[in-house]
Formats: sequence, structure tokens, C-alpha cells
Amino acid sequence: MARVIAVANQKGGVGKTTTCVNLAASLAATRRRVLLVDLDPQGNATMGSGVDKYEVEYSAYDLLVEETPAKEVIVKDTNGKYDLIAANADVTAAEIKLMEFFAREVRLRNALAEVQDDYDFIFIDCPPSLNMLTVNAMGAADSVLVPMQCEYYALEGLTALIDTISKLAAVVNPDLAIEGILRTMYDPRNRLANDVSDQLKQHFGDKVYRTVIPRNVRLAEAPSFGAPAIYYDKSSAGAKAYLALAGEMLRRAERTEPQAEEV
Ligand code: ADP
Ligand code: MG
Repeated sequence: MARVIAVANQKGGVGKTTTCVNLAASLAATRRRVLLVDLDPQGNATMGSGVDKYEVEYSAYDLLVEETPAKEVIVKDTNGKYDLIAANADVTAAEIKLMEFFAREVRLRNALAEVQDDYDFIFIDCPPSLNMLTVNAMGAADSVLVPMQCEYYALEGLTALIDTISKLAAVVNPDLAIEGILRTMYDPRNRLANDVSDQLKQHFGDKVYRTVIPRNVRLAEAPSFGAPAIYYDKSSAGAKAYLALAGEMLRRAERTEPQAEEV
């Protein structure tokens, strides 16, 4: 059964979408079966996967509101390596319409249940706010991956986010865990970034991934070519960092999962 990971941070521009697209591609490159669910009406993860958000027949709107089965909504990324549920401006309407439903927080969880066995990982790219779409992502997820930039106010924002996650979890999903905290757009020559990084490790210990994503122009360019960086420029520092992160996630999962019983 897939591990469902919501990639969330109420702040915009911290690397949520870049992380979703490049992790999906990197895990697919290690032969994991991956589904990426774009829940941001901006549709950046959709476009970054090489899928035209204006041309798709179905989007997360259909999944959440119309109850179109996930299998009908799913498309392939441009390289055919991972699966995608697209988002576009229609998803804004989903946010509003969701309010009308009974058990509105678990619409996504229920919708994904029928495809959970088809994947090893399901990533959910959240919008940069804590709205009903993000609540649905938290309701559907096993864990939350938080990308963050090591800036001055970052720790404050992170503490607030983790507080909100635990409050939400208490209501919609008591088993929700923190998957990990990812340092993005990192510049090791920046002293403040190093200080914030140290504090982060003090506060959150092992939850902070060892892998750091550097600021890398290839990661920023790749979306305009409609491809994750590992296809656009495999040798770039950004592509290598996300491949390393995928490796770290897989090793972590092996450590925490119970070993198969000996016969
Ligand atoms: P979010 O989804 O949190 O809003 P994005 O992933 O869209 O953030 O990233 C915000 C902007 O920063 C985008 O233009 C993206 O291409 C760029 N970006 C993200 N990560 C990096 C990185 N490691 N190095 C350079 N640019 C990056
Ligand atoms: Mg985004």
C-alpha cells in the first residue's frame, strides 16, 4: 500500500512544488510506483510534469467534487514515468464546493483509497494556505513533508505550522506524522542559513533530512521545459540532490518498517 505524503507549508515559494515533481521523478527512477496529486489551483506541479493544465480533461476538482473515480482522472507525466492528478483554476471551485459536503475533510482520502495499492508513494502538492484543500491533504496523508528555506523567520513559521498540523491531526487524522523537514534553496556560504539550519537540527533532530537541496538554477529552469530536473539536466546539482533525497527516504522507510518475518 502506498505511503501518502502531503508536501505542505503555508508559505509560498519555499519549494513545495519543486520537491513534489523532482521527488516523484527521482523515486520513479528507482522503479517506485508514484502518483503525484496536484492540489494547488495554480497547477504548477501539473505544468512542471509537462502536462498542460488548460488541456486536461479531468482535474482534482472532478475527483473531489464530482466523484469521478481516481483511475479516470489519472494521467501520465510527459515522460511516462509517474502518474499525475492535474490541477488548474477549477480546483479553486472545489475548495468552495467542498464546504457543502458531509465529511468534507476526508473526500480526498476516500477518493484515493481505490488506487492506494497501485503505488509505493503518493505525493500531494498543497496550496500555500491552510484551506479546505490542505485539510483534505492532511486527512488523506500518512505524513507531512515540510520544505523550508533557512531564513530568519523560518523557525517561527515552522513551529506555527507544526502546531496547526497537530491540531488538525487531532480532528481529522490522529495517525498523521511528520515525514521530514527539508532544507531547500540552501546556500552554505550564507551564515544566517547555517545558524537557522543548526537551530532546526536542535529542535527537530532526526526529522530534518540530512540531504540539503541547494539553490540551483536548473531546478528553477526545468518547469519551463515541462520536465523534472532529472530529465532536463541529470548532472545538475539540483537533480543530484533530489535523487539523494529519494535515497534517504527509502533508507529511512527500510529502517522503520517491520522486517519480513523469517520462515
Ligand atoms: P512553492 O510550491 O512552495 O510555492 P516552488 O517549488 O514553486 O515553491 O518554488 C518557488 C520558486 O523557486 C520557483 O520559481 C522554483 O522554480 C524556484 N525554486 C525552487 N527550488 C529551488 C532551488 N532549490 N533552487 C533554485 N530555485 C528553486
Ligand atoms: Mg507550489
